[in-house]
Formats: sequence, C-alpha cells, structure tokens
Amino acid sequence: MRGSLLPPGFQEPSSAVPLDLSGSVAGVRFTAEGDIDTDVACRRCGYNLRGLLRDDRCPECGSPAVLALQGDRIRFGDPGWVDRLAKGVRLVVWGIVLAFLSGLAGAVSSTVILATIVTVLASLMRCCGVWLLTSPDPSGLGEASYATSRKVVRIAAVIGLVGAAVGGFGGSMALTLLTGTLGVAATLAGVIEQIATLLFLEKLCRRIPDKKLAGRARVIRCGILFGYAFMLVGGIVTALTLATAGPSGIGAPVGLSAGALGCVMGVGGLTLLVFGILYLLFMIRLGRALGVEARRARELWSASAPASPASPSGAEAAQPA
Ligand SMILES: [Zn+2]
Repeated sequence: MRGSLLPPGFQEPSSAVPLDLSGSVAGVRFTAEGDIDTDVACRRCGYNLRGLLRDDRCPECGSPAVLALQGDRIRFGDPGWVDRLAKGVRLVVWGIVLAFLSGLAGAVSSTVILATIVTVLASLMRCCGVWLLTSPDPSGLGEASYATSRKVVRIAAVIGLVGAAVGGFGGSMALTLLTGTLGVAATLAGVIEQIATLLFLEKLCRRIPDKKLAGRARVIRCGILFGYAFMLVGGIVTALTLATAGPSGIGAPVGLSAGALGCVMGVGGLTLLVFGILYLLFMIRLGRALGVEARRARELWSASAPASPASPSGAEAAQPA
C-alpha cells in the first residue's frame, strides 16, 4: 500500500516538471486493505470512488482512480474540460482585441454598419469564450467555492450579447425604448460579468495552482471596482446637477464645478483603461497557463490509459510530449 500510486501501465509523461503521483495523498484516507476510505469524485464523471483500490478504475467511465486522488488541481481533470477552459480564455482575448478594433474602426470610419458588425462579433466571441471558460468541472470539484460566480458570469454574458446585438442593429428599427433599456442592461451586465469573472478566475487560478495569477485577479478586480465607483459618482452628480439646474442652465446646487466633475470622471476612466489593459495581459497569461495545464492533462490521461494486454509492463503507454 506504500507502493506506487500509478495505475498499471502508467509512465510519467516526458514533461519538464516531474509529475509526482507517488507521494501520500493529502486528505484521502485508506483502509488497511488499501481501499479508498474517503469520498472522492471521479475526475471525469463525478462517481464516488470510495471503496475502490487506488489502482482501480471508475466503474462508470473507466477513468483511473489515482488521478482523482491528487486533490483539485486542474491538470488532473478531464482533458476535454481543461481544453474548454484554455479555448475559452483564447476566445475572450480575441473578443477583447476585436472590440478594441471595432472601437477604433468606429472612430475613424463613417460606415457605422461595419463597426456594428465587428462589435456584435466581438461580443459573440467573448460570450462563447466566457461560456467555455466557466464550464463546470465534470467531477463537481470547485463548485462549492465558485458555482455562484460561475453562473452569474454566464447569465451576464448572455444579457451582454443580447444587449449588444439589439443595441447595434435595433437603432434603425425604431425600437428606441427597447434598445435603450437593453443598452443599460447590457452595460450593467458587462460590469457584473467583469467583476464575477475575476472573482471566479481568482479561485480557478488557485487550482492551477498559481498564487501570483490569483493575486493579480484580485488586484485587477479591486481596480476595476474603484474605476466604476468613480464613474458612478461622476454620473450621479452630473445627473443631479442637470436635473436641478435652472432654465438657463446656470447654478449647480450640488456644488461641483464642471472641472471637478471632469476630474472625477477622468480618474475613473483612466483607472478603467489601466486596469482594462492589465485585465487583457492577465487573460493572455492565464491562457498560456491553462494551455500548459491542458497539455499536461492530455499527457497524464493518455499515459494512464489501460495498457494493452501484449505489453503488461506498459512500456509503450507513455506518449512523448
Ligand atoms: Zn468516472
């Protein structure tokens, strides 16, 4: 029972970082007979593996039990799921880049329709990316920690996409009330999506585990919240000033001059710009990290595939990187 944790036919993948599956498994107890004596979810189907030997396979999907004994690290998860996370980040990054380009195109070109199409396409890419990135781990791991933020991100992303599509193409269809309402909803959904995404990603990064990336997600979330708070204060004060100004437009009882207001909005806008760029850089780094995790997951799972009867030593089970 103190022997190797590797299932029969398992060989370590030839990656730079050694994969240690041979040590004791934190939090998992075994009976004297070597049976798993803790509730452990199969990483592919969530089946409770309690009562199986560590070298057994899940009776539901055939996944090696040993991979489920390694804690909640992403790389031991189902490779299809890890791949979805990596693809999701890449799509989000391209969506952000495309949104930036559409803004640029809108500023320099008079063809509104082109900018609108690119904006909606960027929203669609970001929404699809967010959807993939927030795919639940099939084992159910992580849900206790981030299920709420994961679902909030998905709902907000869909509202944002609908808002962008109707707001973009509905302008010429005399749907001003609807597009106006949806525009406000989409803006609000965009803010909620950003904050909830960063909250979710902070916890996901801890499963890589990458404390630095997790810390970065927290800092960027605080910065973006700070920027939006400034914009909100500026917006409310502007609205109050306009509502209470006399017919001549003179006299702002709220007491803030246009210069001070501009300053508040400027600080908010600058903060959002800086942390928006940091968010993009963070997502690029996360995409790289998840790409590595996806590759490691594929290696691990292909290396732990059942050995063919002809080669019980499993010498050919390992796939070179
Ligand atoms: Zn299973």
